[in-house]
Amino acid sequence: QPMIAMRGVEKWYGDYKALTDINLTVASGEKIVLCGPSGSGKSTLIRCINHLEPYSAGEIRVDGTLLGDDRKTIDAVRREVGMVFQQFNLFPHLTVMQNCTLAPMRSRGLGKAQAEAVARRLLDRVKILDQADKFPAQLSGGQQQRVAIARALCMKPKVMLFDEPTSALDPEMVKEVLDTMISLAEDGMTMICVTHEMGFARQVADRVIFMAGGAIVEEGHPAEFFKAP
Ligand code: ADP
Ligand code: ADP
Repeated sequence: QPMIAMRGVEKWYGDYKALTDINLTVASGEKIVLCGPSGSGKSTLIRCINHLEPYSAGEIRVDGTLLGDDRKTIDAVRREVGMVFQQFNLFPHLTVMQNCTLAPMRSRGLGKAQAEAVARRLLDRVKILDQADKFPAQLSGGQQQRVAIARALCMKPKVMLFDEPTSALDPEMVKEVLDTMISLAEDGMTMICVTHEMGFARQVADRVIFMAGGAIVEEGHPAEFFKAP
């Protein structure tokens, strides 16, 4: 059973069609890099997978569950699908630790001690455990993004979606975030990454999917898309 199956998916914003007949199947453990020009629908596509955007037509299944419009299904799918944004989207008034424990306590029903134990392990994994009591604004962009990755992992997702995770970072911080993503990939995580980082795509992607005008126009092995420099 595929981890993600999109069939005939369309997305309309009012009378603007942002996604056209998207058919995409992602196997468990597969790593996809989504690329294409600005406005081609990459962000919309991945936001439909965890219902940050409701899709307008077609069908999306996550690990077999049909993603419908009811709260229960949406919450169930969001527990399986971690998301990392360009702008980190950490809660500014919560510490790093609190950012990581909030959702597991609320939506997985973990107690505080248990949630903190999970968070400590994952913060350690992204090499930021020493910052656990800081607030996001006290961290660099690269550190904040690693916290955002740890926060998503605390929900024990089966899939991770990345929406231009390094685009808002100063160049010297890009590598630490990409290295974290590479290690996640090596652990077998199913990943869909919207990114312009060709080195990352070459190293990690099983498939590169190229979008234009709201449609998937080409796909293939990264070597076909990104020739080594
Ligand atoms: P990409 O991620 O490839 O840059 P997006 O998925 O962000 O593309 O956007 C695809 C198209 O949908 C763009 O033309 C964008 O302007 C439009 N769009 C995105 N979000 C909205 C929205 N909330 N309302 C109206 N149009 C939107
Ligand atoms: P917008 O329409 O401007 O995207 P939203 O209220 O949908 O506003 O979301 C505000 C921000 O929080 C957005 O960047 C969105 O991507 C993010 N967001 C919304 N819902 C969730 C969620 N369930 N999990 C993580 N981030 C979310």
